[in-house]
Amino acid sequence: MLTAGIQLKAKVKDFLERPVHLFIDGKYVPAAGGQTFETINPATEDVLAVVSEAREEDVDAAVQAARRAFESGAWPALSTAERAHLIYKLADLIDENKEELAQLEALDNGKPYKVALEDDIPATVEHFRYYAGWATKVLGQTIPISSDYLNYTRHEPIGVVGQVIPWNYPLVMAAWKMGAALATGCTIVLKPAEQTPLSLLYTAQLFHEAGFPPGVVNFVPGFGPTAGAAVIRHPDIEKVAFTGSTATGKSIMRQAADTIKHVTLELGGKSPNIILEDADLSEAIPGAFNGIMYNHGQNCSAGSRVFVHRKHYDKVVDELAKMADNVKLGSGMDPETDMGPLVTKKQQERVLGYIQKGKDEGARIVAGGDKALEKGYFVRPTVFADVTDEMTIAKEEIFGPVVVVLPFDSTEEVIERANHTPFGLAAGVWTENVKTAHQVANQLKAGTVWINDYNLENAASPFGGYKQSGIGREMGSYALDNYTEVKSIWVNLK
Ligand code: ADP
Repeated sequence: MLTAGIQLKAKVKDFLERPVHLFIDGKYVPAAGGQTFETINPATEDVLAVVSEAREEDVDAAVQAARRAFESGAWPALSTAERAHLIYKLADLIDENKEELAQLEALDNGKPYKVALEDDIPATVEHFRYYAGWATKVLGQTIPISSDYLNYTRHEPIGVVGQVIPWNYPLVMAAWKMGAALATGCTIVLKPAEQTPLSLLYTAQLFHEAGFPPGVVNFVPGFGPTAGAAVIRHPDIEKVAFTGSTATGKSIMRQAADTIKHVTLELGGKSPNIILEDADLSEAIPGAFNGIMYNHGQNCSAGSRVFVHRKHYDKVVDELAKMADNVKLGSGMDPETDMGPLVTKKQQERVLGYIQKGKDEGARIVAGGDKALEKGYFVRPTVFADVTDEMTIAKEEIFGPVVVVLPFDSTEEVIERANHTPFGLAAGVWTENVKTAHQVANQLKAGTVWINDYNLENAASPFGGYKQSGIGREMGSYALDNYTEVKSIWVNLK
């Protein structure tokens, strides 16, 4: 196997050489119908592994296992401290396997190994540790009514939850979905993205090793319209959580309506990153660059619209272009690589299609603008200048390393233009004036606003979107509400 540079760990080699199966009821199992699909290394275009493909009957088996683990009390009736210990233990095991997992992320998703090792895996570990802490702290209320009655609430786990995740942060997205669900006592059927199922399926054995009862977590790799839809539509799943494109999110909501499931959605964005007149450009320019180029722009909160005060426009465009030209593209397994390939050929074609559209609509390319390297789904980091708000590349989510740079003249004007989008996931503002910073942050219609920084995330801080960027919040204490039903209990004391 071509792995330019970094030596494959023995456990990774072994994992990839055998068929990778579904994980249902605490065991790896092939699909009932025996069907499989291939997952591709986006840097080499070679087949990386053969993965069992879940369809409706497999999803049904997974839901039944999750239901048994729920109704038997194997998970929800465990003491909260025991639940916490198991989640901590899982986090430790993920940490112990961090090199293996980072290699699988680099091979399957394309991101640089170093990034997976230093960002993705530690974020996953910390996420589980954070929610392990919550398991013992999900509290109800005692509500004063009168001396004749005792009224109190219990925050009970919803039941079996279905979770469908994308390919951009395969393990982190799984952790975001599972942490709060496990802490509150829910059992899980999760469908990883068909493009990147490996790291999660490797992690399945760690749940087993940590001592999770069978059926608490079940992983059903497969395709959206089959395995994904089977999870979303299953009558015995009470809640679904989805991260992915806004278009698929709309379909998820419609499918979930039939059985009135609780739905949380974390969808797309076209996030503004605003460099005001008084910004410290030495920080704002690299900040804006990383804001869009991190994870190759395959990031729902990517700062894809950079608004720059007209006074600094030419300088910012120039420097962003220079930074883009200096990015070294290559395999995620090459230690010299700054940016890996996009995840699939489809994604590469989609991004190149947007670049063509930008050119056709009259925007000016100042860096990148084409694919790179003979093999692999690479796209050069691309910077567009002379963009107007009406152009397609300024309106639609590209989900690739493409930034549009837009000039503005006044702060009121830029806030209005920044908000003029159906999305509202994130935003950034760069200024040296503390009052302006907070005033602008207050007026931006986005679930997260970063001041003089970008892409900061932490398990303790909520994340989610306004408008068509989603429903609900993941992370922090907020995510616990997604996985609990509140029961009000009355006691007659008369
Ligand atoms: P992309 O187009 O980049 O793959 P999607 O939002 O379509 O992004 O996919 C995110 C996740 O949603 C993946 O796990 C995918 O398999 C799943 N998915 C896609 N379509 C559906 C669907 N109709 N029902 C349920 N899940 C779906």
